[in-house]
Amino acid sequence: MNILVTGGAGYIGSHVVEELQKSGFIPIVYDNFSTGHAAAVPEDVQLVEGDIHNTVFAKHIMEQFGIDAVIHFAASSLVGESMENPANYYFNNVEGSLHLLEAMREVGVDKIVFSSTAAVYGEPENVPITENSKVQPTNVYGHSKLMIERMLADYDMAYDMHYVALRYFNAAGASFSCDIGEDHSPETHLIPLILKTAQGVRKHVSIFGTDYPTNDGTCVRDYIHVCDLAVAHILALEHLLKGGTSRVYNLGSENGLSVQEIIKSAKKMTNVDFPVVEEQRRPGDPAVLIASSDKIRQELGWMPAQSNIETIIGTAWRWYQAHPRGYEN
Ligand code: UDP
Repeated sequence: MNILVTGGAGYIGSHVVEELQKSGFIPIVYDNFSTGHAAAVPEDVQLVEGDIHNTVFAKHIMEQFGIDAVIHFAASSLVGESMENPANYYFNNVEGSLHLLEAMREVGVDKIVFSSTAAVYGEPENVPITENSKVQPTNVYGHSKLMIERMLADYDMAYDMHYVALRYFNAAGASFSCDIGEDHSPETHLIPLILKTAQGVRKHVSIFGTDYPTNDGTCVRDYIHVCDLAVAHILALEHLLKGGTSRVYNLGSENGLSVQEIIKSAKKMTNVDFPVVEEQRRPGDPAVLIASSDKIRQELGWMPAQSNIETIIGTAWRWYQAHPRGYEN
């Protein structure tokens, strides 16, 4: 089966490409390299430089490779940037996805796994968060992803295009192969910033807020290993290929860890006592985000096996040690 992976040269996309190969699928990566890295794609995978806005080219590629289904990652995904430049997010994410869906519709590809986010929930009313919780994004990034989920539901109703939308909590960690990992520019995520500080590339780690209503005053998040996320995409794809109907699933470990707990684990695992500075809260950060992933566990048998903090930090640390300049070296 030939699977088009938009954004397959990005962090989560490249891990899904690796898992697709392991599972016997043939991934075709479609990426415009605005943030992705060609080096994140194995040499034996077909790599197409293309933009999701280019409907004509996307159609041509889907026909040329006899695409059976699409996994769609290509998107802008920085919360802060989305607030400063909403136009980019509505253009890249919403309009880009619309063009992709149109290309699919015109060539008759009717299955898509979509990379969504826990940011669709905003400030949750209850934790753990189930898929039935209220969706009320507090940032443009979350709004853009929710709008795409809406488009998918409408395309399903009108054109019978089936989808699985996967709402990720905090993706972290790196492949056990050590060949691929997280390399964002700029980096804004907690675990990469901590490990770069442990390496001496950054001077200190900032804790954004120590006055949250949590046990130690710092934010609690649900960190999920990127390889567990990758497996969920394969299960979602298989569900659609078997004729399954459209679904929305949370992907989290169901285990909350505070910023302080992550820092403590990282100090222990790296054996480096790096400096930590307490700062003001970052606007828009909810105190606690923890998933209920019961629905995908029950329906597709997903079981996050690698999402303990030791494996998450251990694999990420190995990646940064082997690639201190990310994909540059
Ligand atoms: N965070 C922090 N310092 C940093 C980066 C992040 O204290 O330098 C906190 C942030 O406030 C949040 C958690 O770490 O509570 C995870 O943030 P990240 O940006 O990794 O992911 P997000 O939850 O925003 O998707």
